[in-house]
Amino acid sequence: MAAFRAAAARAASARLRPAAQQAHIAPMELDFTEAELHRYSRHILLKEVGATGQARLRAARVLVVGAGGLGSPLALYLAAAGVGTIGLVDGDALELSNLQRQVAHATRRIGRNKAESAAETLRALNPEVAVEVHPLRLDAEAAQELIPRYDIVCDGTDNFATRFLLGDACHLLARPLVSAAVLRFEGQLSVFAGHDGVHPCHRCLHPEPPPPGLVPTCSEAGVLGAVTGVMGTLQATEVLKLVLGIGEPLKGRLLLWDALDARFRTVRLRRDPACALCGPGATIRDLSAHRDAAGPVCSAA
Ligand SMILES: [Zn+2]
Repeated sequence: MAAFRAAAARAASARLRPAAQQAHIAPMELDFTEAELHRYSRHILLKEVGATGQARLRAARVLVVGAGGLGSPLALYLAAAGVGTIGLVDGDALELSNLQRQVAHATRRIGRNKAESAAETLRALNPEVAVEVHPLRLDAEAAQELIPRYDIVCDGTDNFATRFLLGDACHLLARPLVSAAVLRFEGQLSVFAGHDGVHPCHRCLHPEPPPPGLVPTCSEAGVLGAVTGVMGTLQATEVLKLVLGIGEPLKGRLLLWDALDARFRTVRLRRDPACALCGPGATIRDLSAHRDAAGPVCSAA
């Protein structure tokens, strides 16, 4: 606790310092209440986070698409971490079969909209954060309207139509996309940020969606519930790293996890010069291809 008191004292003195000494951040942004200092004490103890990092988390706006198996742990950890504004998108109603892995919900809320149900849990966990509920199926129009209002977007959906819509929209609107996927006993994760001109976009990895029916979904092939928990938590960790500007984000890399083998591996992803989205001869310049093609949006896995 001594170390925490010292860190809290540093945070408190930062509040009193004139703005000129902390040009990168406005003084009011470090103005934490005693309750906030206490709540986030284990973050503030970390020199890589500290009071400044905690203020960055509070100022961050993160959009979570899909309040399901991935979105549940993801949004829970973002809320617990003090990410100031969390947007939740989900148009589905909670079903009994969701509860084996979608831990942000509750049995008594079956039938409720999943974004609303998850928001209730997040607010109970941390009333300091604002949760914006978008109880809708993400289509091109909604993507265009919502994505610019957030700093980072997370894909926790379970169908290729929405995954490709999100990938294209985030690239065109210049937002990093933290994308995870799960099936059976396996998960994968990457951060797509092709708009920076350096890293690959999602279409460098998957130029086109697979033909319908070729790749099964979790509702067809099943998934071990805890696998979604791990991947959603890894997704949350990547979001926190991006907000805090620490570590090596998974840009240009794909993390693969086989739960049965208990093995993680990372493969490097390259930017594809012939990519239709980020290449020099890019042909995808807007979301018009998605306008008539919006599929059902089921939330993760
Ligand atoms: Zn690309």
